[in-house]
Amino acid sequence: MIFIQHRDFDLKPKRVEFSAATKRAAWALSGGNCQRCRRPFFSRGDKHHYDHIIPTWISGRNDLKNCWVLCVPCHKIKTKEDQALIARARRSIKKKLGLKKRRGPPIRSRGFDKTKSKRFDGRVVPRKRRKGKRY
Ligand SMILES: [Zn+2]
Repeated sequence: MIFIQHRDFDLKPKRVEFSAATKRAAWALSGGNCQRCRRPFFSRGDKHHYDHIIPTWISGRNDLKNCWVLCVPCHKIKTKEDQALIARARRSIKKKLGLKKRRGPPIRSRGFDKTKSKRFDGRVVPRKRRKGKRY
């Protein structure tokens, strides 16, 4: 179950950067390790990314509580997961708003043969025609 917390969402996710202060605080909290796989960064300059724990498009949060430090491989995996999550949320919103387009023509039934009817005992008999009525 996905909850969209902010009401005035756009259907297109857009990127939001953390502030420098949030990044500094997140770095301090990480202790210089990737917060997903615990691999240490050897220096501040070692490749690391600041990531939204819950995508902003869903949580609407861009603060320290929603920020963690990830190594590049972890960030790649996390981004893929986030994209799937966002796509799912978007589909469910579109469905709710009635924006989802049907793919292909509606499924049609073969219909019933109106010239015959089935009795309770299983026999199929021609339907009696009533005057003026089309079966
Ligand atoms: Zn990692």
